[in-house]
Amino acid sequence: MSFSQTPANLDLASRTVAYFSMEIALSPSLPTYSGGLGMLAGDTLRSAADTAAPMLAVSLAHRRGYFRQHLDAVGQQTESDVPWSPETTLPSANEVVSVSMQGREVLLHAWRFDVIGVTGHIVPVFLLDSDVEGNDPWDRRLTDHLYGGDTYYRLCQETILGLGGIALLRSLNCKPQVYHMNEGHAALLTIGLLEAQLNGAPLRDATDADIEVVRRQCVFTTHTPVPAGHDQFGLDQMNQILGHDRATAIERTGCLHNGLMNMTYIALRFSRFVNGVAMQHGIVSQQMFPEYPVHAITNGVHAATWLSKPFQQLLDTQAPAWRTDNQYLRSAYGIAPATIAATHREGKLRLFAEVQTRTAQTFDPNVLTLGFARRVATYKRASLLFHDPARLVAIAEKIGGLQILFAGKAHPADVAGKGLIRDVFAEAATLNSSALKIVYLENYDWELGAMLTQGVDVWLNTPRRPYEASGTSGMKAALNGVPSLSILDGWWIEGCAENTTGWAIEDGDTEDAEAASLYQKLEHSVAPLYADFAAWAAMQRHCIAINGTFFNTHRMLAQYFTNSYELPSILPSSTARAASESYLHQPVLA
Ligand SMILES: *Cc1c(COP(=O)(O)O)cnc(C)c1O
Repeated sequence: MSFSQTPANLDLASRTVAYFSMEIALSPSLPTYSGGLGMLAGDTLRSAADTAAPMLAVSLAHRRGYFRQHLDAVGQQTESDVPWSPETTLPSANEVVSVSMQGREVLLHAWRFDVIGVTGHIVPVFLLDSDVEGNDPWDRRLTDHLYGGDTYYRLCQETILGLGGIALLRSLNCKPQVYHMNEGHAALLTIGLLEAQLNGAPLRDATDADIEVVRRQCVFTTHTPVPAGHDQFGLDQMNQILGHDRATAIERTGCLHNGLMNMTYIALRFSRFVNGVAMQHGIVSQQMFPEYPVHAITNGVHAATWLSKPFQQLLDTQAPAWRTDNQYLRSAYGIAPATIAATHREGKLRLFAEVQTRTAQTFDPNVLTLGFARRVATYKRASLLFHDPARLVAIAEKIGGLQILFAGKAHPADVAGKGLIRDVFAEAATLNSSALKIVYLENYDWELGAMLTQGVDVWLNTPRRPYEASGTSGMKAALNGVPSLSILDGWWIEGCAENTTGWAIEDGDTEDAEAASLYQKLEHSVAPLYADFAAWAAMQRHCIAINGTFFNTHRMLAQYFTNSYELPSILPSSTARAASESYLHQPVLA
């Protein structure tokens, strides 16, 4: 596998926005991502390429990937590495730079992946690699494992991403005007910019004006609505890895939080624009960080990446401009609902063929099929559907059968998460019957994610509020004419038009109440509509025309340019807040 072995000569000096992310999903065959954050990064850059945006990006090579998931007969997860070799896959960026960390120099090489847009515009992505001759053997392994190792390893990686990334861009003669931190992992780029601003003088000499110069260049997207989700490190590790001068600067500029070095607070302190990833997430983040104005730009997905081939072909004949301008997806209203339904059915048949191949289970394309696939974490509550197993079975029998496909990885260190996968296996083993079929598919990744969101009838999401910052898999489903049945959290607060683009599981104070709403909607709203071919086809078309048109990264990136990258200072935060508060628990068109 190789990608553009001869890199085109790009005028890197004209790239105005540098996008930094610990993970980026660049290709289904490259293991440089773990889940939603990396998908968002990849989709953002694919939209940048399609819309000829003057961007470039920086990440790490992750030579051993995230992991491949193996599940045994009872759902016990084990993991294996996914090694890949950048030298036989990607062109070199021909630069070795050096970062001082852990009291020594670490040499970094970069590989270049070109994201090529529909009109040929290239967004180069530089993947930093510490496996360079001359480095200490321990240092050579620092860019191997995405989210692997302990906090020391993690802080080394974040140092490489932030400080190494800035060193690389300087050596490539890039002079971006904006540095976008996709999550706090990249926050140390601000310290790299401060060092550049001081031009060799110690950081303790930094003035408020120097800090302001850095702030004017930085924007930050936060993704995590729980304090525990924000990376933080002990001061001993901070000193050991970053050295005394940087550690002192971080302390003096007010970037410690609860006595720890907190990547989110560094990013907040040094950014002129901060945003959450959905309107409600902006509000939740504002409450977490009251001392900083927080805006919101709702996430999207890259339409051409997630639309099934049959839908792409259909849209190419009906609305060819959709690839550069996703607003033309509105033209789905010019396509007959029956055509939309038939096109969706192709995705359903492809998915079921894959299920057959992988599991030897036969799924019936005429039976209502739910999909539930996401990173396995307690707050995602895969178990809500099994809250009352007898009721679930009774519904399946009453409505003429029900099929459910699960998928998702637990982080290798997440013992509780792994238990949740076994729980789904156990439920499936007891509940599987002629009316109800439940299958858990192994190794949720880009390709399986695409097949699931293109092939099921309904996308199910049952997070505990307000922990779903945005969620993007339901957006992939919507593009493919798949309505969501979901808790009103994250993007769904904005995307749910009841009985039009899907259904809200109503807010309850207890799991009992939310499960009851889930069963109620499934039995009395979803199933009857599914039985009505014309009504269902109309809904599939609404999903594309209403939600596909908006929840895409072309729109999202355009908002980043107008609201964030291009404006030195933004709307007063109170304006943005007032606008976003109106979305709280109030689905549009409901
Ligand atoms: C889209 C995607 C995600 C993110 O989806 P969520 O809705 O945020 O859970 C995670 N993993 C894979 C493989 C995906 O394709």
